[in-house]
Amino acid sequence: MQKAVFLDRDGVINDGTNYYTYTIDSFVFNPGIFEGLRMLQEQGYMLIVITNQSGVAKGVYTIADVESVHAHMVTQLQKRGITITHVYYCPHHPDVSTCQCRKPGTLLFEQAIAAYNIDIKKSYMIGDSKRDIEAAQKVGIQGILIAKNESIVPYCNTIISHE
Ligand SMILES: [Mg+2]
Ligand SMILES: [Zn+2]
Repeated sequence: MQKAVFLDRDGVINDGTNYYTYTIDSFVFNPGIFEGLRMLQEQGYMLIVITNQSGVAKGVYTIADVESVHAHMVTQLQKRGITITHVYYCPHHPDVSTCQCRKPGTLLFEQAIAAYNIDIKKSYMIGDSKRDIEAAQKVGIQGILIAKNESIVPYCNTIISHE
């Protein structure tokens, strides 16, 4: 089985000051993110992103916008030696349609756990919203709540020191 660190996107990997981020130009990596992800990767954690992108359901941006931002994010991380195994996103919003994948829903976690044979007891979720933590805890994964745009490095140190 694999251990993994799940990551929220906006406010964790990139600047989440704007409510929506859907262009490459407005996608800015947060301080410490490269260092933190590298630490986790070197310690053997698979890195998986799970993000709510309700702007799609609301018609603010398209699936193509989401996927182009994700391609950019994955490429920029890969250039720095960091591999993201999978980026899962929910394009829905309860005002438009209900779903099981929007956090605090657990469907995307369940899909990842099954697809990559993840050991929930050795895995973590880093998020800047209570719904990130709530979703993780429902599937038995320990949640780590950070402030929006805070460096993940101290939390990565904590994860690694608990091994
Ligand atoms: Mg967030
Ligand atoms: Zn959804």
